[in-house]
Amino acid sequence: MSEMVKLRNRPLIDRLPPVRGRLTADAPLAGITWFRVGGAAEVMFRPADVDDLAKFLAEKPGEVPVTVMGVGSNLLVRDGGVPGVVLRLGRGFAEIAVEERRIRAGAAALDLNVARVAAEAGLAGVEFLSGIPGTIGGALRMNAGAYGREMSDVVLEAEALDASGGRHRLSHKALGLTYRHSAIPEDWIFLGALLKGEMGNPTAIGAKLKQIQDAREASQPIRSRTGGSTFANPPGFKAWELIEQAGCRGLSLGGAQVSDMHCNFLINTGTATAADIEALGELVRERVLEETGITLEWEIKRIGIKGPPSETPPREVEAQEAKPPEIKSLNAKPQKSKPQKSKPLGSKPERSKP
Ligand SMILES: Cc1cc2nc3c(=O)[nH]c(=O)nc-3n(C[C@H](O)[C@H](O)[C@H](O)COP(=O)(O)OP(=O)(O)OC[C@H]3O[C@@H](n4cnc5c(N)ncnc54)[C@H](O)[C@@H]3O)c2cc1C
Repeated sequence: MSEMVKLRNRPLIDRLPPVRGRLTADAPLAGITWFRVGGAAEVMFRPADVDDLAKFLAEKPGEVPVTVMGVGSNLLVRDGGVPGVVLRLGRGFAEIAVEERRIRAGAAALDLNVARVAAEAGLAGVEFLSGIPGTIGGALRMNAGAYGREMSDVVLEAEALDASGGRHRLSHKALGLTYRHSAIPEDWIFLGALLKGEMGNPTAIGAKLKQIQDAREASQPIRSRTGGSTFANPPGFKAWELIEQAGCRGLSLGGAQVSDMHCNFLINTGTATAADIEALGELVRERVLEETGITLEWEIKRIGIKGPPSETPPREVEAQEAKPPEIKSLNAKPQKSKPQKSKPLGSKPERSKP
């Protein structure tokens, strides 16, 4: 075997550059997504901070794909897992600060926490974020919205790294936010955003947060294993009405079910595989097309490959140990991000409320 082929056959984790954060081979993903299904990341990278991430992107082999995730509230990870590197931003990216009438929030900050910090500071306008169980990074990518407002109404600017680790400041216009979509290239990684608030009455803002929580409890299966709205609303229609019209409310396949409470939500009843959920979604699309002539488009992002889950147990490698550090970094104090354990349903953040 040639040296080149031998090199390519080494496990991915051994071919990645040294980092200050944490690299894990065969890292299970099911426990850190809302659906609680799917295979493992070939390698998961939890960067210590922006510099660690930028350096990693600049130095990693060009052909290795990188997929970034937030808290997986809009993700279906397929059973065969995700090839390449899955990036999970942690505490080093979760800061929230109020600057006069603006709120600066890191990409890993939970939307709910951003809404709460704004409320405490008497800033109105971002209450809708309390109804979205994701992160600011996910909200930027999806132009997340609820109760008549969406990210594009409140974002002044954002920051992102491109696929090679170059840092970019993005104006509101450059973000190209349209319905559940951002025009920023899929392989760019949002680092955070500057949001605008308006002076408001803290009691009234607090009451609005409570009203949003109550409305969600009443209308969405927020305590289930779900991924939020499965399909985008086609122009002029509501996806849930089309699904209802096609007779799909309550429809099930394997361990997956169309929610009785909100029929644009798919549920893992406890035993579903990602394949069950995806096949049920496709069945719903077929029936809606037959019944109404309208093709539903997936809003949920499906990542990874189909197939049985890998049996390989996770392997954590401090890349500094796997490879000798560069001379110039020998004096640098290594910062380790704390391991983030996946939490069972019903437990408190990383996520707001399952
Ligand atoms: C019960 C429930 C209710 C929901 N209600 C709403 C709602 O009312 N309105 C709404 O809009 N959505 C809703 N959602 C969907 C979901 O919460 C949003 O889309 C949210 O913005 C996703 O954020 P996340 O951090 O979970 O991202 P993930 O689900 O982890 O990822 C979603 C997408 O964002 C990308 N992404 C994540 N972080 C970054 C980053 N830092 N840089 C670049 N890309 C990134 C991922 O690659 C992926 O493509 C709901 C979901 C659930 C489960």
